[in-house]
Amino acid sequence: MSAKKETSFRESVDLMFNRAVALMDLPPGLEEKIRVCNSTYTVRFGVRLRGQMQTFTGYRSVHSEHMEPVKGGIRYALSVHQDEVEALAALMTYKCALVEAPFGGSKGGLCIDPREWDDHELELITRRFAYELIKRDMIHPAQNVPAPDMGSGEREMSWIADQYARMNTTDINAKACVTGKPVNAGGIQGRTEATGRGVQYALREFFRHPEDMAEAGLEGTLKGKRVIVQGLGNVGFHAAKFLRDEDGALITGIIERDGALFNPEGLDVEAVRDWIVKHDGITSYPAAIHRADGAAVLEEDCDILIPAALEGVITMANAPRIKAPLIIEAANGPVTAGADEILRDKGVVIIPDMYANAGGVTVSYFEWVKNLSHIRFGRMQRRQEEARHELIVAELERLDRYLGGAWSMSPDFKARYLRGADELELVRSGLDDTMRTAYQSMREVWHGREDVTDLRTAAYLVAIDRVAASYRAKGI
Ligand code: NAD
Repeated sequence: MSAKKETSFRESVDLMFNRAVALMDLPPGLEEKIRVCNSTYTVRFGVRLRGQMQTFTGYRSVHSEHMEPVKGGIRYALSVHQDEVEALAALMTYKCALVEAPFGGSKGGLCIDPREWDDHELELITRRFAYELIKRDMIHPAQNVPAPDMGSGEREMSWIADQYARMNTTDINAKACVTGKPVNAGGIQGRTEATGRGVQYALREFFRHPEDMAEAGLEGTLKGKRVIVQGLGNVGFHAAKFLRDEDGALITGIIERDGALFNPEGLDVEAVRDWIVKHDGITSYPAAIHRADGAAVLEEDCDILIPAALEGVITMANAPRIKAPLIIEAANGPVTAGADEILRDKGVVIIPDMYANAGGVTVSYFEWVKNLSHIRFGRMQRRQEEARHELIVAELERLDRYLGGAWSMSPDFKARYLRGADELELVRSGLDDTMRTAYQSMREVWHGREDVTDLRTAAYLVAIDRVAASYRAKGI
């Protein structure tokens, strides 16, 4: 069962899955049914660009249809290949089950370096890829709903939504065919930063449990904790920014494609991000030590390590040198199965990807519901809520007058209490609740079973159990 040699991403996911099912009592055959990827569609399509036909390869994998629609992002990267897409689709199945988002697992990928193409070219490529998937119902509000992933974002999602609407002119639910859209094109407040926000909420929940912190040899709060983050893209940037600005963590290291920045006093995350946008990299950013060998900074001393770029960055080769006592997998699959074993033996606590980065799919679920219900969250009840609060405040003020002004509310209480929740607040509250509840379901297994010694196995157990229950209910 253990990984003696370095495994591919998909082999790692399978090994981790096998490790968990060995502790379960699934009916014969069901284990295999849950593990395998149902289907992968490969498409090669041409787009006439720069005076010639350019051929692109894309994939859409469906791992499990125990619930529909199936859900999962579309990755734009040159490294995309079938095995990777299938591993990511499997993780989506388990992730959705763990956070109780009612979807099966899917994932897509396009072999492309988005930085090589201008906006107009990318739009043509995206629309053509979407066309190929839509005409086979592989993008569909009831069957398969993509979202952003590495290399893609709300701009690509809005092109996909528009392409679907053009091809399905009478589908009233057309907008629900994809999530992660811009707010003005059917998106939801808080989706762009949702995965990073989820990483923050996951860490906050971890830090609410002193026994869990003790497993990693940590104590106190997030304030002043030294954090190293790899990948300052959508997920890494938002996670690092929120942890720094709202929880007082020190971002001591940022690892990017062109090296790493290190500053024991803490880095200004927003300033680094602006620098990357302007200079196409972190090199020569002032106010920090620049290290050309970025990956080596993964091994620096810190309290929390956040790999938020890509898979397979912590391997059997560097795992023995990792000093962080706590790793939160913001990226999918950053730790290989072999490295996972080494880190477990060292006592490192790993908050696993299927939980840590589930904030994205959670808010995607809210967006999909919003699209299907055709109404913004909070629109019906916000003012009514405010009116009821107004009643209480008026009554308190009347009592105060009766007491002759001896008692008074704190200065900003009235304004804060009176305000009804808007969409962003509701999204954050739903995300926070989801991250807390899912963490608790994992830790119950982690601490409740003697044969479970890590959060990843606990997460798999919870997720697989739910998927199996769904298959049993269907009678398949
Ligand atoms: P992104 O494209 O916005 O950002 C990725 C960042 O990593 C970029 O800044 C890039 O320059 C950097 N990077 C790439 N290769 C690197 C390397 N070798 N070393 C250091 N940095 C490198 O992607 P993202 O959406 O932030 O996704 C990052 C990870 O999070 C992926 O594993 C993705 O599957 C996962 N994820 C994303 C979402 C989402 O909502 N976007 C949701 C769940 C999981």
